Amino acid sequence: MAIRTLETLGDLAGRTVLIRCDFNVPLEDGRITDEGRIVASLPTLRALLEQGAKVVAMSHLGRPKGAPEERYSLAPVAARLGELLGQEVAFATDTVGEDAQRVRIALQDGQLALLENLRFDPRETSKDAGERAELAAELAAGADVFVSDGFGVVHREQASVFEVAQALPSAAGLLVAKELEVLSRLTESPERPYAVVLGGSKVSDKLGVIEHLLPRVDRLVIGGGMLFTFLKALGHDVASSLLEEDQVERVLGYMKQAEELGVQLLLPTDVVVAESFSADAAHETVAADAIGGSRFGAKGIGLDIGPDSAAAFAEAIRTSRTVFWNGPMGVFEMPAFAHGTKAVAQALTEVDGLAVVGGGDSAAAVRGLGFDDAAFGHISTGGGASLEFLEGARLPGLEVLGW
Ligand code: ADP
Ligand code: MG
Repeated sequence: MAIRTLETLGDLAGRTVLIRCDFNVPLEDGRITDEGRIVASLPTLRALLEQGAKVVAMSHLGRPKGAPEERYSLAPVAARLGELLGQEVAFATDTVGEDAQRVRIALQDGQLALLENLRFDPRETSKDAGERAELAAELAAGADVFVSDGFGVVHREQASVFEVAQALPSAAGLLVAKELEVLSRLTESPERPYAVVLGGSKVSDKLGVIEHLLPRVDRLVIGGGMLFTFLKALGHDVASSLLEEDQVERVLGYMKQAEELGVQLLLPTDVVVAESFSADAAHETVAADAIGGSRFGAKGIGLDIGPDSAAAFAEAIRTSRTVFWNGPMGVFEMPAFAHGTKAVAQALTEVDGLAVVGGGDSAAAVRGLGFDDAAFGHISTGGGASLEFLEGARLPGLEVLGW
């Protein structure tokens, strides 16, 4: 079924629109280090404001534990949003309390307000549907309609995503609609060869994805933190590299399945091993089966794929017609270990077909390494959400919008 779009909400002039955005941006000392998610939210916000709606935006940031924590305040986002939109953004210092009330009441047509971090309220992510519904009702109070535009959270059954969409007439924003349009092209008869490139540090999360993707792809490329679990499964010593020992069996199963399905599984043949997890650590490149034999011995930590692997991965990517990439190939935040990620990003820009980047850190890596967003077919604002979508999972935040 088609998702309900903004037009289904009718004329929004003078009406109060509650919108869920994903402003979960990386912060360093209160400074936004990658504003990609804010920029991606602008088209919908502008569309609503230009119609003369009173817009109340909400988002989470980071992982506060259900209580206010200064370092997770959305105040810096409100300030930046105001600069980008060229208009003032009223900021409520709470989510559904007195200040949120004050800000809402003062809002005029064509004005925007941002509520404080949703996750300062434990009901947002509560396992209890009743508690979530209660928060949703408080958020919905005084609003006429709800717009869901936080693609990064549509896989979550949370108050501001799921219950609130049931409490008000609701529709998807432009960002969610665009994400769906592009990601659907990956699931509905992708042009072949179709390659999926996985890396990053959330190893067990992403291993689950492999199972679902194996029957659909032609090439599966593995880098980042999860590669060591594969090397271990092959019987290699990975010294002190990131490893999920209890996943080794599972990974062996995937390797066997890949072979049976005729999926080309690309693992690194060389790895950059460092003495410690730090930007200026001594390091050397060794064969993937010789990590334990590096000059750092058992202390050695694999922090990037090596140059041979980077070249092979780039070739596999460049010669594919559809590519989805999630998760950096190494600890790209440290320049000495960013080469693999850079090579993969570069190869994605050279794909003759559709190349999609998904994942918060992957998107930040691409921008941080100096690539232009426009060089890619699409940079998804959702990591987990885009992966679950590709797996064909049921996404509550989309289902509730008629998808
Ligand atoms: P995304 O947000 O794109 O989905 P993840 O959150 O899974 O990606 O992972 C991103 C993190 O993975 C980065 O901070 C990066 O430093 C880390 N990473 C990549 N390779 C390694 C590695 N070999 N060892 C430890 N961490 C790694
Ligand atoms: Mg991440």
